[in-house]
Amino acid sequence: MPNKRTMATSPKKLHIKTFGCQMNAYDSERMAEVLQPAGYELTDEANDADLVILNTCHIREKAAEKVYSELGRVRLNKEARKAKGRDTLVAVAGCVAQAEGEEIIARAPVVDIVVGPQSLHRLADLVAEAQSTGKRSVETEFPAEDKFAALPVRADGKRHVSAFVTVQEGCDKFCTFCVVPYTRGAEYSREPAEIVAEVERLSARGVREVTLLGQNVNAYHGSGVDGGRWSLAQLLRKLAENPAIERLRFTTSHPHDMDDDLIALFGDEPKLMPYLHLPFQAGSDRILAAMNRKHTAADYEALIARIRDTRPDIALSTDIIVGFPGETDADFEETLSLTRRVRFAQAFSFKYSARPGTPAANLDGQVPDSVKKERLAVLQALLEESRRGFDQATVGRRMPVLFGGKGRKPGQITGRSPYLQAVHVEGPDTLIGHIAEVDISAAGPNSLTGVMKSGFEWREPVQAAV
Ligand code: SAM
Ligand code: SF4
Repeated sequence: MPNKRTMATSPKKLHIKTFGCQMNAYDSERMAEVLQPAGYELTDEANDADLVILNTCHIREKAAEKVYSELGRVRLNKEARKAKGRDTLVAVAGCVAQAEGEEIIARAPVVDIVVGPQSLHRLADLVAEAQSTGKRSVETEFPAEDKFAALPVRADGKRHVSAFVTVQEGCDKFCTFCVVPYTRGAEYSREPAEIVAEVERLSARGVREVTLLGQNVNAYHGSGVDGGRWSLAQLLRKLAENPAIERLRFTTSHPHDMDDDLIALFGDEPKLMPYLHLPFQAGSDRILAAMNRKHTAADYEALIARIRDTRPDIALSTDIIVGFPGETDADFEETLSLTRRVRFAQAFSFKYSARPGTPAANLDGQVPDSVKKERLAVLQALLEESRRGFDQATVGRRMPVLFGGKGRKPGQITGRSPYLQAVHVEGPDTLIGHIAEVDISAAGPNSLTGVMKSGFEWREPVQAAV
């Protein structure tokens, strides 16, 4: 039986379930850091947690609905724990929290705290309040204070080789299908000095690869240390000066904000990996205009040509929506045709989902679900063929792989190629956290297999000073 002292000091358990994009993954890490000083320790076991947070996504109806079915499970668990005399606090964070606010509590009374993405730095206070008063709270304002400045310095948490850093949030583009401008608010860029310091702390604890995140990351415009406005390219150049950072990536970019400086960087900054996620959404100019995308299919293709001129081997990735209101078979054919011409290495494709409050939700010509389903299946078959083609073309090549962890099979380690492909090889665990040359021998359905460059002998590298 534990004595009183161990009971008093034993940490409280926190379980965070993350839905949606990488920005939510970043926010979840930051929430854990906010709650650490209050004595919360992460657990993978939801049943074991004193505080359960669902960090939610509102981008499509399906994503939002998943939250409510998860809350059903959380309620049963809360009741089971209560029967054993243990309390569970339940918080809903992220974009569903922002969009639905009070409604969440009305629909799911198990929820104690609703907190929008702009208020996550207030989480420890909200939890303390809920514990002391037993009252429910809803925090979905866009507070005046700078959220990032109010967040604690990133803690010495789990050691990862690769890390996300949010540099830009929100969006002013107002694509007619999208909730982001309403859930994440106006476009906002963090200060470069703050980002440089965060990356320095990450690299000091072993991070070798940083992916800069933003809903519209290439619209980044921080005020530089020199007093001027810094573009994303300037920020990346500055981060590349950190000798311990070996790889840089950024996502998600908008075609309209892809400036010459950023394109040039793919040609002259070796630390910037040859991978670009650049959503085009649709191939028909009529649909692109109705989406308020600010580019035509020809603009997109011309941009791709310039990027490929600068970096011919670049792996291109995209997002595509099928069944936007008014999309005809001919419009969809144009999406297929553009997809065939560009040849993507990776892609994410979705059925259009009408989101409450967005202009497209009220447009005439909503496409039946059966048609969307059919179009999505055709598009995904094409994208899969293109992805496999890209992977297959890397077989026989030698590539630097950054190893991030152990593989599933004994003696195997796994990492990422410059093109973000997963690569499995047989190799020593001591390589985890480092880059080594690998000869790619086969392409499977979801990953590549390789062998260490012949004659390879592993020696601990001399660590660069940070
Ligand atoms: N900012 C990025 C851009 O401009 O393309 C995308 C951000 S959004 C979080 C990710 C993707 O979700 C979009 O590119 C789009 O393809 C998809 N998406 C957004 N709203 C959608 C909706 N209402 N229905 C289906 N897919 C949607
Ligand atoms: Fe949404 Fe991206 Fe359009 Fe902004 S640019 S409204 S985040 S799809």
